[in-house]
Amino acid sequence: MDVLNLLILVFEACLYFGLLVCLLHWRARLGIGVLMTVLGVAHFLETYLAARFYVTTPFGMASPGSILFYSGKLAMILMIYVREDAATVRQLIYGLLGGNFICLLFAFILRLHPGHGLAPGAMPDNDFLDQMGVLMVWGTALLYIEAVGVILLYEALGRWMGRSPAPRLWVASVLALAFDQIGFYAALHILYDAPASVFWATLFGKCFFASVYAVLAAVYFRFFASGVATEKRFPSDVFADLTYRERYDALLARSGVDTLTGVMNRGRLEEVGPSLIQRHLHMSADLSLLIADVDHFKLINDRLGHLEGDAVLKAIAQALKSGLRNDVDQLFRFGGEEFLILMPGIGEDAALNAAERLRQRVEAQVTAGGAPVSISIGVASAPAGGDSLRSLIDTADQGLYRAKANGRNQVDGVPRTA
Ligand code: GH3
Ligand code: MG
Ligand code: MG
Repeated sequence: MDVLNLLILVFEACLYFGLLVCLLHWRARLGIGVLMTVLGVAHFLETYLAARFYVTTPFGMASPGSILFYSGKLAMILMIYVREDAATVRQLIYGLLGGNFICLLFAFILRLHPGHGLAPGAMPDNDFLDQMGVLMVWGTALLYIEAVGVILLYEALGRWMGRSPAPRLWVASVLALAFDQIGFYAALHILYDAPASVFWATLFGKCFFASVYAVLAAVYFRFFASGVATEKRFPSDVFADLTYRERYDALLARSGVDTLTGVMNRGRLEEVGPSLIQRHLHMSADLSLLIADVDHFKLINDRLGHLEGDAVLKAIAQALKSGLRNDVDQLFRFGGEEFLILMPGIGEDAALNAAERLRQRVEAQVTAGGAPVSISIGVASAPAGGDSLRSLIDTADQGLYRAKANGRNQVDGVPRTA
């Protein structure tokens, strides 16, 4: 009988893990949300079983909820981490935690209803609902600690055991499950007076099924996701590099950095500009805004090519940056070859002087095909030149237009003195 139960459990484990791995494997097509929802539903089953459903096994009395579904969930957390990343796993953990708290909350509120059963033999069991709620919240709080622990262990084991995921998955989950067993058994003992034999049976059972899952994971990595197993890429795998580059660029864009020049991008300006300006207006403090546009940049692109044009933009950004006050002035790439500078504490005269120095700096430092590159700059100072980002940009733009019309390489239409 024990052995028959174990055989059925092994069959269930293979089926459960197999189905989940299919959802993981096809996550690009299905969306990772499908796997996460299935894990959430299984979590309920798992908790119900751990509270009510025990079978005899060669280890002793144990519940499939703990030894099969819980260890499966932990293995799946690691699988998701290996295939995706920590941020994706986090969604699952927070989702489970949030869902369980909501369950507990409603288990509490629902008892305010004068409850009615469907039939005399099927009355609502509020105590059971409460106990389930407590078990689920406690189980997920433990899961939260274990999920973080198991990932850290998995990474640490990489140094000792090499890059192959399955053996690391096995060791990391056995250790995390041992920790879990101590914490979860304590709750079962308090709520249901669970005997000590259940502790040992469940501990061995969890370790046994962690091993089953590790073997299944090894099969999966060996035959269906071999690229992950070693994380060695062919040097010629340019697509992988491009993917990383794309992700890196996307990350930089989100973080507000312009990918070409490394200065802040326009999105960042929209984010920080208005509040900075309002703060200064509020304190009646000076603030100026400069817009610099490269002169005849099209010609540089046309003569020397776009890549050289890009290099010139980088050099201009560098020259401007080195001419600004660290941590005070803020430099943004505003458009293709336009830069915007916010200068807190600087009034109109000082701004015109600063702009002139920047113009000279670029003229002296930046060349394209041996010829110096110049910029024109428009200046606006608050509040006379505007009291918002929009109106200041508008004023600076008019100055820039005058500078261009007056012959370029100058500040705000004022012909240069040097
Ligand atoms: P002006 O003196 O009147 O400003 O003349 P201009 O040639 O600079 O004219 P404009 O400002 O309209 O030129 C913008 C050019 O900048 C057109 C576009 O091809 C080029 N450009 C925009 N973004 C980039 C970029 O990221 N890299 C390169 N290489 N060129 C860019
Ligand atoms: Mg332009
Ligand atoms: Mg230009």
